[in-house]
Amino acid sequence: MTPLFDSHCHLQMPAFAADLPEVLERARSEGWEASVVIGMDVPSSRQAIDLAARHEGLYATVGMHPHDASCLDEEALAALRTLAKEPRVVGIGETGLDFYRNLSAPALQRKAFREHLALASEVDLPVVIHARQAQEETFAILRDWSGGQPESRRPLGVLHCFAGDSALAQAYVELGFMISIAGNVTYPNARKLQAAATSVPLNGLLVETDCPFLAPQSRRGRRCEPAHLRETVEFVAKLRGSSVDEVAGATAANARRLYRL
Ligand SMILES: [Zn+2]
Repeated sequence: MTPLFDSHCHLQMPAFAADLPEVLERARSEGWEASVVIGMDVPSSRQAIDLAARHEGLYATVGMHPHDASCLDEEALAALRTLAKEPRVVGIGETGLDFYRNLSAPALQRKAFREHLALASEVDLPVVIHARQAQEETFAILRDWSGGQPESRRPLGVLHCFAGDSALAQAYVELGFMISIAGNVTYPNARKLQAAATSVPLNGLLVETDCPFLAPQSRRGRRCEPAHLRETVEFVAKLRGSSVDEVAGATAANARRLYRL
């Protein structure tokens, strides 16, 4: 069984406070080997670092989610800069634009996004991007930023829980980004996402749980956990006409290349 690498999850959330060791044990029995625990604000970034220090197979990122972009003041940014240098921190984010919920004003989201990109360049780490109902503007910002990044920094980052179409996925891969497919690819109405997951070049493809969110179809609506990644990988492999081992192996190798593990 080729090991599975979960490129994006939130195991530091309260949903896992009571049973994380059991959750990781179940994941291992399904062939899971690693997850990147993604920060969403300063406390959850600290918690991600803490989990990564205590559990084998876990890594951390630090960042402020676009929902909370309005909280990224100078003090928070300084805290993220300090946390970014901690051991087992492998990325900056999640950051980006979310004009679906607009929990922070768009202007503040743009400012926070640019500050994360500058921080990623400064500390030389990849960026983890969240884009919802903001595909064109997110792409424009990342295209401009990527133009100033040295070749040695590629791959530059990941479009987490990708929600664009095949052409956008291809354009991102050409800029030096990877495309991460979450469990919602298994939903029957996810035609556009399924097409994108089928057409992304294998060397630009990642898979994620985004747990506790987005459980795949057989467990839809319930708590998602890393053990459920196999269902998503099996689904993507079938879409692509590949073996599960091929998709598992490539996505794990890609995640290690992106996060430099
Ligand atoms: Zn996330």
